[in-house]
Amino acid sequence: MAIQLFVPSFDVESCLSEIKECLETGWTGLGFKTVQFEEAWKSYTGLNNAHFLNSATSGLNIAFDIFKEKYGWQDDDEVITTPLTFVSSNHAILLAGLKPIFADVDDTLCLDPVEVEKKITEKTRAVLFVGMGGNAGHYNKIVELCKKNNLKLVLDAAHMAGTRVDGEIPGKEADVVVYSFQAVKNLPTADSGMICFKLNELDEIVRKKTWLGINKDTYSRTNTKGNYKWKYDVEYVGQKYHGNSIMAAIGLAQLKQLDRDNAYRRQIAKWYRDGFAPYKDKIGLVNIPSECESSSHLFQIIVEDRDSLMNALNEENIYPGVHYVDNTQYRMYEYAKDTCSKATYISDHIISLPIHMKLTYEDVQIVISAVITHITKGDMVIKK
Ligand SMILES: *Cc1c(COP(=O)(O)O)cnc(C)c1O
Repeated sequence: MAIQLFVPSFDVESCLSEIKECLETGWTGLGFKTVQFEEAWKSYTGLNNAHFLNSATSGLNIAFDIFKEKYGWQDDDEVITTPLTFVSSNHAILLAGLKPIFADVDDTLCLDPVEVEKKITEKTRAVLFVGMGGNAGHYNKIVELCKKNNLKLVLDAAHMAGTRVDGEIPGKEADVVVYSFQAVKNLPTADSGMICFKLNELDEIVRKKTWLGINKDTYSRTNTKGNYKWKYDVEYVGQKYHGNSIMAAIGLAQLKQLDRDNAYRRQIAKWYRDGFAPYKDKIGLVNIPSECESSSHLFQIIVEDRDSLMNALNEENIYPGVHYVDNTQYRMYEYAKDTCSKATYISDHIISLPIHMKLTYEDVQIVISAVITHITKGDMVIKK
């Protein structure tokens, strides 16, 4: 049997019963379950606001759009960001007409606060922080740095559903937090996301901007008595970025198992760490600061010859992944090519091992021994 990188798992009965309510009520769109899921997410995270979206990508796009308008940022104003992320993080900056300025990562695979500080200029407006694989890295230092320099903080928490720092869900300090509930993330729906602004007034704006700029959603119009339901104003040239009740129904069901799932992910990560511990010189592990309880979205190791390890594992029917290629290697971001040497090194040497709810202890041991066998193959030859 093949061992895959990610296999989403769903509480099928619970998802179906939530979806059934939508179908029986005849309400599958914006409102109803989306409102319930927003409330549930706010109470789970303790964040002020939550607006349900069709994806995290939409959330990142609209966040920069809203900040630029609200704070009067100019075209080509700068946002300091990481080269080690999914491109949707950095595309969002470009789409808003702003300029991504890449700072290097540290041994947490997240932005290095020291490198971020070096990149601050007169034109810097914000920092975009990605909690890689669920690791919060040195997020608290980035928070301080943003405060000190009067910069907005955007937290791309696509990997961080359920991550805690000092026992709490991080993000209250950020100006906006964006989560992904895409199919392979820790809280899988099919595709959806959540945007959580610190300021209530920005939450009000995002609700309009994600529904074409309309200032009254269909659900509240349906629920208000009387005529004039069709009477709404359009305040912005908005997008159609909001989420729907079917996705929210799945989200509500899945939220109930998020902490349990993440605990098992951490167990898998511990099995890997224990298995690789004797091979410190050959298998680099990620530093997860002690105050962080990671959602363990990914389990990544750093090895000398990643591509040959990848091939060897594929031969054994094990299918790892790579998170991520240094974004400055892509054409869009070529202007910053090779400016972040650690990220470039990691990009060439990192591999994400299988981690998901269907993985057993035995599966993990199979992966560990396949990795070790390959990594130590050269040693045997030399020792002989
Ligand atoms: C998955 C991901 C996104 C985008 O999430 P979608 O919900 O698929 O749009 C953004 N940033 C990071 C770091 C991601 O891994």
